[in-house]
Amino acid sequence: MTELAYLASPEAAYERAFTARVVALPPGAVVLDRTLFYPAGGGQPTDRGTIAGPDGASLAVVDVGKSGAVVLHRLGRGSRPALRIGDEVHGSVDWERRYGHMRLHTAQHLLSAVVFRRTGLKTRKAVFAAGAGTIEVVGAWPGSETPETLAEAYGAYLAPPREVRIRALPRAEWEANPSARAGLVPLPPMVDPVRVIEIDGVDTCPCGGTHLRSTGEVGAFELDRPFVQAADATRIGFALRTAVAHSARITP
Ligand SMILES: [Zn+2]
Repeated sequence: MTELAYLASPEAAYERAFTARVVALPPGAVVLDRTLFYPAGGGQPTDRGTIAGPDGASLAVVDVGKSGAVVLHRLGRGSRPALRIGDEVHGSVDWERRYGHMRLHTAQHLLSAVVFRRTGLKTRKAVFAAGAGTIEVVGAWPGSETPETLAEAYGAYLAPPREVRIRALPRAEWEANPSARAGLVPLPPMVDPVRVIEIDGVDTCPCGGTHLRSTGEVGAFELDRPFVQAADATRIGFALRTAVAHSARITP
């Protein structure tokens, strides 16, 4: 089993260097006892970075995926790691890429929350990568909601900034009192406790992704015109307008 060390707290998502032990070496990949590498899931793309073993050689991690209870750090083509089971390794996450995903992920939760508040439509799917993303909401888009009114409402939640918190709730407690906008995407059967991301005063949603500490770190943001793709489905694109804004509290 691989401990998902990035899940522990809002601060853990900001750590990008770690030590761990090798527990398995399947072909082309490394399995560690713990990791800060995010395996693709929930619309958030995989992390990349490097793993260095006792010989100091740096191995490129090009893809990260879950396989049952372990995380596979897939290495670059042709890489021949001089690693053994039990070795201590140093992992380093490509921070610019990850922080971009954190900004997009928190921005996406907030967008889904604002759309739900204003239209009652829930998000069925969200994807994002390389500074931009899309949410797909279910139901007829109301003509009264224009890109301008949506962008204005959205902006009001970015500044002044709102705190983002993580809570772990017993599944029974969450299911007895879920948030109004959740429920369209069923929780996987084994999930307990439920990891809930709260944006202060505006949103509560189960999620296993990495998030910002505050909506103030989303930065300048752009919304596309909602695209009605079917009578009951609308897509809204979004993008970060600024490059990575490094936080002073990021761990080295
Ligand atoms: Zn999420």
